[in-house]
Amino acid sequence: MSAQHDPNCIFCKIVAGQIPSRKVYEDEDLFAFHDIHPWAPVHFLMVPKVHIPSMAQVGPEHERLMGRLLTLAPKLAMEQGCNPYPEGGFRIVCNTGQEGGQEVHHLHIHVIGGPRPWAKG
Ligand code: IMP
Repeated sequence: MSAQHDPNCIFCKIVAGQIPSRKVYEDEDLFAFHDIHPWAPVHFLMVPKVHIPSMAQVGPEHERLMGRLLTLAPKLAMEQGCNPYPEGGFRIVCNTGQEGGQEVHHLHIHVIGGPRPWAKG
């Protein structure tokens, strides 16, 4: 693992295949996988492969990466079964820091959708 990865980070281990996951998508920069405790019929996480602890550490050097992350999300949401906008749609959540409710400190967005009511959120 390079310095861009944290050997103690659970999402770095998922990206590296050291912890199994239900993969949704992968390219050279991004990885997406189903949340282990889904709140809704569709609930997957999207992460950059590089270890960035949270949105609080994102800087200008990450503009392209973050742009790719966000522009890919709607496509994956549809592929995973979210219904089309506007009757359908999805929610994107990015918990940041302790007060932001973040539990895993590797930047990730939750993509959540499918028919309501959802269990949480
Ligand atoms: P957050 O840090 O509060 O935004 O949420 C972390 C999310 O990661 C939670 O929804 C967990 O269910 C999810 N999670 C934690 N460990 C795993 C795993 O090993 N596989 C898939 N999802 C996980």
